[in-house]
Amino acid sequence: MTTTATDTTFFDCAWLLADPGAEPAQRDVRIGVAGGRVASVEARQGMGTGPRRLALPALANAHDHARTFRSATLGAFNQPLESWLPFLGAVPGMDPYLCAATSFARSVRNGVAHLVVHYTRVQGGMPYVDEARAVAHAAQDVGVRIGFAVSMRDRNGIAYCDDTTVLTALRPGIRDAVAQRLAVKPAAPAQQIALVDEVAAMVQEGGYGDHVTVQYGPTAVQWCSTALLEAIAQASADTGRPVHMHMLETKYQRDWADHAHPGGIVKFLDSIGLLTPRLTLAHCTWARPEELALIAERGASIAVNTSSNLGLKSGIAPLTDMLKQGCRVAMGLDGMAFDEDDDALREARLAYALHRGWGFDTTMTPEQLWGFASRHGPRSVSGAAVPSSGRLVVGAPADIVLLDWDALDDDALFADIDPLDLLLARGNGTHIAEVCIGGRTVVEAGRVIGIDEAVMRAELLARMRAALAADAGHGGWRATVQALAQDLAPFYRDGRFGGCCG
Ligand SMILES: [Zn+2]
Repeated sequence: MTTTATDTTFFDCAWLLADPGAEPAQRDVRIGVAGGRVASVEARQGMGTGPRRLALPALANAHDHARTFRSATLGAFNQPLESWLPFLGAVPGMDPYLCAATSFARSVRNGVAHLVVHYTRVQGGMPYVDEARAVAHAAQDVGVRIGFAVSMRDRNGIAYCDDTTVLTALRPGIRDAVAQRLAVKPAAPAQQIALVDEVAAMVQEGGYGDHVTVQYGPTAVQWCSTALLEAIAQASADTGRPVHMHMLETKYQRDWADHAHPGGIVKFLDSIGLLTPRLTLAHCTWARPEELALIAERGASIAVNTSSNLGLKSGIAPLTDMLKQGCRVAMGLDGMAFDEDDDALREARLAYALHRGWGFDTTMTPEQLWGFASRHGPRSVSGAAVPSSGRLVVGAPADIVLLDWDALDDDALFADIDPLDLLLARGNGTHIAEVCIGGRTVVEAGRVIGIDEAVMRAELLARMRAALAADAGHGGWRATVQALAQDLAPFYRDGRFGGCCG
């Protein structure tokens, strides 16, 4: 990276994938950046002397929660979603700035410029708006753009059924503790909508607008009453704010949806005015072709979370059906990348490997993969189309990832191998040397610039270990969560939630 007196920053690269899958790679290019945008893309005069880079548009993560501690660390490996959820509370709340900043740092180190934060895990210990401010501040310091979706729910705190019925299905010894911690304490729809307004006002007054788009975040239909979903649909129509919601993530959610909405759960969303271009549905792992067709027709987005669906035993999303139906599909990591490391490049490759087609069939092209990994996600983050997102062309946002080309092509036998092939064969987060978001270099030499990630992570771990050592009661809650997971298994396996939905 070099800067001139005219405030244009230049990035020299041995290879440029300006529009991966759609345009061939260009050799020896100089990218000029000014005012946060790509100002020029020109052939470089003469060979540079610095490290050789492969430049490509930054990635987007259209569904995440900015979680800090990994699932297996919390003892939740091998749990399906339904019994995995309570494990997220196996550790006490921590400082929200430290949690968010370390999580965002991992995202940008892995090349993500746009990130949806469905804020389902509130750390607590301070008013909600103050916690949201800490998250916004972390996004600004790290330099990532986030869609902050305020988590909203008002029913079914323990399982896909009213809490009283679920509690009777649990062993008596854990009922009180589970009720106290997990039973839903519903707030009225108007109150939940007002909280989103408060957060939006904070973002505006705090000057976080360049980094944060506030969204409505209904957790899912099985967790939100119709009154709450209707209020959200109306508020989104009034304010233009995006909506982010989980949908048909597991086979049990499919069963629940078919019981609760025999006329079709997607048609239900449409009937209450929620199915609009402002909506992003996370997962849709168990959606049917006719449901995908309606989602496509209404212009809503889908965020597919490939590793998360494997990690939580949810299934493999019908991504090729989604593409066939014309859905706008974006990549989500859901805090559950395959190696629990937020590696977005590996995540994109995994989705491609699963969905590109078998034998000589092609069911997902590299261009479609790039739409999924980079072009479509920014819309789910900001709520509106972002022109030229996912492309490095003049006028596009200067969201650039630079990989260490000599590390990616470390055999270097043939000069004519397509760089995109190498990227899709083996590219991962360890190859990322530099990341630029909106013209600001946020990662250099593989390290985040805006915060001291290593120090913050060490601090967070030290505080967590101290809190766990001091809090004998938390060990009791962990044992309760393990017992709850055992009791929920027959509850779901035998379909006992079927008769109590609505
Ligand atoms: Zn999620």
